[in-house]
Amino acid sequence: MTAALYLLRAGVKTAMIEKLSPGGQVLMTAEIENYPGFPEGLQGWELADKFANHLDKYDLDRINDEVRGIEIGAPFHTIKVGDEDVQAKVIILATGSRYRRLGIPGEERLLGKGVSYCALCDGNFFRGQEVAVIGGGNSALEEALYLARLVNKVYLIHRRDEFRGLLCYQDKCLTNDKIEPIRATVVDEIQGEDQVESLLLRNVKTDETSELKLDGAFIFVGFEPIMDFVPDEVDKEQNGVVTDVEMHTNIPGIFAAGDIRAKMCRQVASAVGDGATAATAAFSYLEQMED
Ligand code: NAP
Repeated sequence: MTAALYLLRAGVKTAMIEKLSPGGQVLMTAEIENYPGFPEGLQGWELADKFANHLDKYDLDRINDEVRGIEIGAPFHTIKVGDEDVQAKVIILATGSRYRRLGIPGEERLLGKGVSYCALCDGNFFRGQEVAVIGGGNSALEEALYLARLVNKVYLIHRRDEFRGLLCYQDKCLTNDKIEPIRATVVDEIQGEDQVESLLLRNVKTDETSELKLDGAFIFVGFEPIMDFVPDEVDKEQNGVVTDVEMHTNIPGIFAAGDIRAKMCRQVASAVGDGATAATAAFSYLEQMED
């Protein structure tokens, strides 16, 4: 949305292609406390709405469909969207990331039956019950705090002794009566007939196994970039599309911004910065094409 805003303000004819609602992972985030200008914090959907509404006064072509692939060309690339082909001199890839799966038995089978990757979407179903949050990064800590408002107990299961997430979230989790950390422990299996009933745990130091009875398992073990539709010719690493500091990929006219990029920092603020940078570089590229 930031890239679209910058391109529109520079007078570039712009289409924004989105298969769901604009906002991505932000829509699944309960509270955003670190986006500058909002010291009290705000809910993810509120911030996404503000971004989307900001575009309303511009002549943006909004295409609500899924991109199936891209054909690289010159001067136009072709984007396969739904049943249509869209031609563009510049493409900014900004499809973000999706939750990583643990890949353990029971995870796929019990998805939607107690296994979830979204506390905001599913937390309400577990009011008064006991759940686990698996992971030790910012997502796991934040979501554990959100769930603790709804459920009776949150087991916070992390594979190491030290959490990866920010100290401010660690402090809040470790002083919350409803959150019980289980450290140096991995989940080997999610068990249950038609609904999650228990987790098979293994202490990684002692190799001791145990069964933890509960009602739900929320998995937050990182993200993987959404780049299935990105052509092979575009350079990628395991954690995203490779760009330079101005968001150029190796293919002229194709740029990338936000969580789809191979990078360390995955924040709303950094995605916004990437979007502005990509649009500015894209505008220079278009101007050079005209010369
Ligand atoms: P993350 O920072 O990559 O953390 C993933 C966590 O899952 C790590 O603690 C990791 O353990 C654990 N993990 C990974 N694979 C595992 C496996 N197979 N089994 C068990 N545990 C596993 O991911 P994230 O928390 O989703 O955050 C992603 C990015 O978004 C980060 O850059 C984060 O800072 C950002 N983010 C920021 C905020 C915020 O600023 N408020 C909120 C949410 C996310 P190890 O620690 O042992 O590697």
